Amino acid sequence: MYVSHLACPKCAATYASEHIIQLCRCGAPLLVRYDLDRVKAAVHKESLMARPPDLWRYKELLPVKQDANRVCLGEGMTPLLPLKKLGPQVGLPNLFMKDEGIIPTGTFKARGAAVGVSRAKELGIEALAMPTNGNAGAALAVYCAAAGIKAIIVMPADAPPIPRGECAITGAELYLVDGLISDAGKIVARAVADYGWFDASTLKEPYRIEGKKTMGLEIAEQFGWQLPDVILYPTGGGVGIIGIFKALQELESMGWIQGKFPRLVAVQSTGCAPIVEAWKRNLTESEFWENAATLAFGITVPKALGDFLVLDAIYQTDGCAVAVEDSEILASEALLASREGTFVCPEGAATLSAALKLVQEGWIKPEEKVVLLNTGSGLKYPETVHTRPPVLSPGDRLPPLSSTD
Ligand SMILES: *Cc1c(COP(=O)(O)O)cnc(C)c1O
Ligand SMILES: [Zn+2]
Repeated sequence: MYVSHLACPKCAATYASEHIIQLCRCGAPLLVRYDLDRVKAAVHKESLMARPPDLWRYKELLPVKQDANRVCLGEGMTPLLPLKKLGPQVGLPNLFMKDEGIIPTGTFKARGAAVGVSRAKELGIEALAMPTNGNAGAALAVYCAAAGIKAIIVMPADAPPIPRGECAITGAELYLVDGLISDAGKIVARAVADYGWFDASTLKEPYRIEGKKTMGLEIAEQFGWQLPDVILYPTGGGVGIIGIFKALQELESMGWIQGKFPRLVAVQSTGCAPIVEAWKRNLTESEFWENAATLAFGITVPKALGDFLVLDAIYQTDGCAVAVEDSEILASEALLASREGTFVCPEGAATLSAALKLVQEGWIKPEEKVVLLNTGSGLKYPETVHTRPPVLSPGDRLPPLSSTD
């Protein structure tokens, strides 16, 4: 393994990586640091191509020592689709979508769970507790089942129902709370204090982000190590965007990529936009967003522990933060499905709405290479589509086709 230590991005304290640890003593999240010179000497980027198409192809940049501790359900190396019809229609001929919809559990949360749970197994952890808006809990439950670790999940009663089924069938202890993810977080914190369980809350342990980082590694590899100009990411807890930025920094340190980083765009819903608000006011931290509500449940995070890291990634890459309406999200979901045949989750659809705004404002130039990050499958959100097909009798005939565009 090439991990050198854990480091605090706030107070610069360092820790050995071989102990079970949650946060820095200053309360900030810890990040994994690698001996990148040794990684560089050990692997050449060209040799990656011969490896299996899952995220463990980047094992030298991941924090798991023994192959036997790796829990792999085939996660990673998701397609980077050129949006050949939609792109030109919206004035972006170089528009791409990284599609996490086909990963195990149907959302990119599988990446964090795969690496986080594998490392937990390696450290001998027996029970993981997590507050979640649904998808992270489902992914944790699935990977814990595969690893033989107990999962305790608390999610808002209003969260979409499918992740509940994933938790239940994999044998997790599942609880609903009449409140938001922040309320679920308080309940988990009390249980962790009472029973000594490991707290797998977003960024309260250093390893899930390493799994999510692989989205950035894949984007670089899939573009032949030539980075795009802009990446739009639906931001809740912010782990994905922090992870992508961290991946790019590591690749740059190893000399695998050169030149300007893609401008990172945090996309939120107008119903919960703490990062957008902080960015507009040029702040380095966000404030708690009262009465958060959006149908894009995965990005309903009123105050993220890693908000300062999200904002730092935006500022350092000359990126920005954009909020979009739920009605725009639904329109983008329908547009992507009807033009490109991709049924994306509302969070992913939000990135298209944001891209449309930024093109109009001239912030994205038409010739730029732009990546939408679709974080999950629309199949996990059946409630976002309403159908009323005509009901036929067995003897009926179908009408001729009506003209379509
Ligand atoms: C959790 C989630 C997000 C937000 O992810 P972060 O990386 O924590 O900001 C976006 N989309 C979906 C579908 C999610 O489940
Ligand atoms: Zn610290």
